Amino acid sequence: MDYEQGVGWNNARIVPYADFALDPAAMVLHYGQAIFEGTKCYRRADGGLQLFRPQANLARMTRSAERMGMPALDEETALEGLKQLVRIEEAWVPHLDGTSLYIRPTMISMDVGLGVHASKKYLFYIILSPVGAYYKEGLKPVSIYVEDAYVRAVRGGVGFTKCAGNYAASILAGDVAEKKGFSQVLWLDGVEQKYVEEVGSMNMMFAYGNKIVTPKLNGSILPGITRDSVLTLARSMGYEAEEERLDINEIFADAKSGKLTEAFGTGTAAVISPVGTLAMKDEKITIGDGGIGKVAQSLYDTLTGIQYGRLEDKFGWIIKL
Ligand code: PMP
Repeated sequence: MDYEQGVGWNNARIVPYADFALDPAAMVLHYGQAIFEGTKCYRRADGGLQLFRPQANLARMTRSAERMGMPALDEETALEGLKQLVRIEEAWVPHLDGTSLYIRPTMISMDVGLGVHASKKYLFYIILSPVGAYYKEGLKPVSIYVEDAYVRAVRGGVGFTKCAGNYAASILAGDVAEKKGFSQVLWLDGVEQKYVEEVGSMNMMFAYGNKIVTPKLNGSILPGITRDSVLTLARSMGYEAEEERLDINEIFADAKSGKLTEAFGTGTAAVISPVGTLAMKDEKITIGDGGIGKVAQSLYDTLTGIQYGRLEDKFGWIIKL
């Protein structure tokens, strides 16, 4: 659908996937007013389809839009369009457990001009893509590099939004870490560079026995929908779950002394991803026994159980199609 200042969101439509035209001076190309979301449609064992908390993604898009000087999304029309699209492309929702149809709502500025100011015209669209299981073998511990050269977000910046520029700023660090054999980087805060923020596409959680801690939202961490779901699930399963400021040096010390028993990331794509190894500068540590911890495994089983319809959805997260 289109947005025009004074008119609002209009012309909601579903069209076949195709190229679209952009003026070379379209403001999105120069000033980066581009935000997006990622959510998934799952197929239950009985063949039916279900979405997991898509309203939370659309609400987060509106929060991103506000920070980026973009208009609030018409969340109701967007959700209706999202549901219609998935029904049309129903055949593309894979049948295998662990696979899903990834849904990517996107909003970009369309005004043409070279002056730096908020655009008056926007395009909102949704594209879909079937995705395989993040790890073919199921849960698999990953190794993560603690980034010390670059920061991802700064105080008062756009870290809490899902804007394209955050990812543009992260690509180099991710590539360097990958060449060194790591899956992703762990970002530290942009002020003191010592507090844990998040990983490239996941929020971070740490387990001390049955207590789970995760960095407190501070304006530069993306408020992950999986993070929120896992905190709720963890508490309902009898774990203690706290949001705190986490010093990376303490995390390393606790891992070495054995107090820290597990680390894992949470995200729509990665679901729950155990972290077996953490590296910082020249130091490399193993978390727990470097394998899949029981907290991560139990949360993974419960979350995917709800997403694939095997377990009861006690929290009203599922929309059946
Ligand atoms: N942090 C970043 C930077 C991400 O890109 C993602 C993936 N959207 C997450 C955290 C996890 O968020 P969610 O659980 O909503 O997918």
